[in-house]
Amino acid sequence: MMTSDVQFGPGYMGRLPHGADLLEALTQLCVEKAIQLGRVEAIGAVQRARIGFYDQTTHEYTFMTFDQSYEILNLTGNVSLRDGKPMIHAHITLSDHEGRSFGGHLAPGTIVFACEFILQRIEGAALKRGFDEETGLPLWQP
Ligand code: ZN
Repeated sequence: MMTSDVQFGPGYMGRLPHGADLLEALTQLCVEKAIQLGRVEAIGAVQRARIGFYDQTTHEYTFMTFDQSYEILNLTGNVSLRDGKPMIHAHITLSDHEGRSFGGHLAPGTIVFACEFILQRIEGAALKRGFDEETGLPLWQP
C-alpha cells in the first residue's frame, strides 16, 4: 500500500466552454491555477465521447469513440504530476437517450456540450507518476 498525508484545500467551480475538449480544458485549468495535487468532479453533457479500457493481460488501452450526445452522469478524477506537469486521471460515466449508462477512462477527444466542474486543490507532498512494472501503468511512486 502507498499513502500520502494530504489536506483538502480551496478550489474552483465553473463551467467549461461549449465545444471544448473535456480532459484538455480541465488539465489546462490545473496548469493556469498551478494545481499539482487535487481532485476533480463534473456533470453535464458531451457531444462526443472517447473513453479507454485497459487490458490487464496485454497492458494496452483500447480506445472507443462514440460520435453522439450523452449525459455526463459522473466524472471523478485526481490531479498529480507526470513528467513534472499536472496530469488528470479521470473516469467518466455517461448515459444515452434511453438512460443506459456505460463509461471508462476519460481520453482526449471527448467534446463538451455543457459541463459544470469542481476542481479542488489538495495540499501535501507531490504525488508523481512513474512506470509500474506489474501493471504497465503510470502509477504513483512511493
Ligand atoms: Zn483510468
